Formats: sequence, C-alpha cells, structure tokens
Amino acid sequence: MTTHSEPGLTGRQVWQKLMDGNMRFVQGYFRGRDLLDLRRSLAQGQKPEAAILCCSDSRVPAEIIFDQSLGDLFVVRTAGLVLDPTSIGSLEYAVAHLHVPLLVIKGHEGCGAVTAAVEHPEAAHDHICAIVDQIVPAAVQARQTGKNGHDLIEATTDIHLKSLEETLFRVSPIIRAAVDRGRLEIIVAKYYLDAGQVQPLASTF
Ligand SMILES: [Zn+2]
Repeated sequence: MTTHSEPGLTGRQVWQKLMDGNMRFVQGYFRGRDLLDLRRSLAQGQKPEAAILCCSDSRVPAEIIFDQSLGDLFVVRTAGLVLDPTSIGSLEYAVAHLHVPLLVIKGHEGCGAVTAAVEHPEAAHDHICAIVDQIVPAAVQARQTGKNGHDLIEATTDIHLKSLEETLFRVSPIIRAAVDRGRLEIIVAKYYLDAGQVQPLASTF
C-alpha cells in the first residue's frame, strides 16, 4: 500500500495538522499540491490520517476547510451528521482497516437539519424524518436551557454533536476498543461559517 504521509502520527499530531490547515483556510492561503502526482501515488492504496464525520451541507467540505487533499481524509457525510448502520460501519472501517489515529466529529453553525429539528420537526416527511428524528432529543434538551431563536439552534447543535461521540462509544465496539487501547482519539468540533474556523467543542485534548 502506498503511504504518502508520515507514518505513525498520533491523533493529537494529526489534529494539529488539521488545525494548521484550517488556519490556512481562514487566512485564504492554500497549500499547493500536485494533484496529478498525488493521484498517481495513491492509485495503489490509501492511508488517510483522519476519519471525519461531517454534514452534507455544501458549505462544509472537510478537505477544503482543513486544506487537505487526495488521500488525506476518510470522510463520512450525512445531513446533520446523523448516524445509521452504514455511516457507523464506514467509520469503523476507517478505524479497523485504515488505522486512522483520529476521528473528528465536525458539526457546523447554522445547520439546516438541526434547524428543522428545532423549528419544524413535524414537517419532515419521507426519509427526511430519519434525519430530523435523530436530532429532536437534542432540541428537547436544549429547550430546557431557556434559549430560543439562533441560540437555541446552536445549543441543540452542540448537544447533538456531543451525543454522537457517546453514541459511537455505545454502539461500536471497534471504536470503543480503539480508544481504550490508545490507538484512536476522538474530537468533537464545530465549524463557524463566517469566520471559516473550526473549534473543538468538547475534547480530550
Ligand atoms: Zn448541516
């Protein structure tokens, strides 16, 4: 398997690389990469440095936000970051077979899926219900803070994001074992649309 990156980085070191990349993104300085060369070098295999669970929102692609390139990130995107057997299985694959040392749960400000769960959960129809229903418990919990409007949506997002880490721990023996053995670090972070910045929400770092 072709290895295009430094082997043996810890989750903390990978996170620092992602933060450095995000700072470049914030400032508008992107790292130049030879995509043709990179594409050829990756044709025989991948060794991404992190798995990212993030929203399908067109404004939040992890590769661009972290200024990464081909082969760097194993990205699982669902609207609102909701989990199901296939998205969990995808993350487990990254941990068990690609041996990523870092899993980032990256939500974002102004999430439409969260807004729907807060403001109009009853309006969701067809399979969209499966997305909204998974966020409604966070909205119920957030309402207990007395917040409303934008603050309520963002509080719901924060609660939902933190619950995802707990859920992954509960339902995935692969992820739990990797963390327990020190082979995987998980960080929960939030992306701010206007500033372009990613900030940890609740982290082990
Ligand atoms: Zn979203």
